[in-house]
Parts: sequence; C-alpha cells; structure tokens
Amino acid sequence: MNKAAFLDRDGTLIMDVPYIRDPEQVRLLPGVVPALRNLIEQDYLLIIVTNQSGIGRWLMTKQQYLTVQRRVGDLLAAHGVYITATYYCPHTPDAGCACRKPGTAMFERAAREFDIDLSQSLMFGDKESDMVPCVGTCIRVPKDASWAAWYRPRYPSPNPPLKTPPAGA
Ligand SMILES: [Mg+2]
Ligand SMILES: [Zn+2]
Repeated sequence: MNKAAFLDRDGTLIMDVPYIRDPEQVRLLPGVVPALRNLIEQDYLLIIVTNQSGIGRWLMTKQQYLTVQRRVGDLLAAHGVYITATYYCPHTPDAGCACRKPGTAMFERAAREFDIDLSQSLMFGDKESDMVPCVGTCIRVPKDASWAAWYRPRYPSPNPPLKTPPAGA
C-alpha cells in the first residue's frame, strides 16, 4: 500500500485569499517546495484536499476554482514537484455533505483510488477542521507561514507539533 501526505491548500500551500478565483493571486508560501520534495523522497504521494465552499455559495464557479488549482499545480511543477491528485468539496457547511473537512469522504476516496494506508499517512493543514480523524498523523501548521519555520524533515517525529499550532503560530 501507499502512504500519502495530504495537504490543505489555502493558508497551507498558498497564501490564503478568501474565495480565491483569480490565478494571478496564487502565491506559494516560502519553503513549500523543499518540504514537498522531502516528502516525495520519503515516498509520500502528495494529495491536496481542500474545502471550496465559495462554489456552493456562488462566489466562484467550478471553472474559476479549476483555473486557480491548475495554477497551483503549474507553480509546483515548475520546481519539479508533482501533485498526485486533488480533491475538493464545493459544498457549504450547512449542506451536510460527507466530504467537507473534517468529514472524511475525500480521504476515503483517495485511499480507494490510490491504494493508500491512511493510518500511515500525514495531513498538513492550518485549521482545526483539517485535523481529520481518519489520517494517522495530522499536523496543524501556522496559517500563511513559511514552511521553513516549522517543517521537520521526518514525520511522524518523536516530538512533533501534533494537532496543535507550533510555537509562534
Ligand atoms: Mg486552509
Ligand atoms: Zn462536500
């Protein structure tokens, strides 16, 4: 079986712009590229899992979401970092769907599609709702911060900032 590093997008990989729909606004956060390379070297698949309620709120179209998502992938690919897959939830919080994080449906689907052992996988995200119950190790990261400030070359590590914001967050 494979293991994955699941990645929240907004505020974790890129600067959080609420309901971002313009690819020109995409800014990768510092330190993302070397950290993702390090995860690849440890045989983690890279999978983005993102809540995009702006679609359900009619603040952006699915096409606008996809344009921004493609930009994120292009910026990473320009540095030789390839995302295995991206899953997104387009629903509003009151829709009661199973996919909106901390719901687990997107992770379970990824696990089926890529033969992933979730218990051996990681999840990085800047919100409490990213701390999903189905992934072995969830790492709460500071929003919009450089990964150099908190990333450790090995997860899970003996003393990781698990499920709590790192110091200085
Ligand atoms: Mg986020
Ligand atoms: Zn959903």
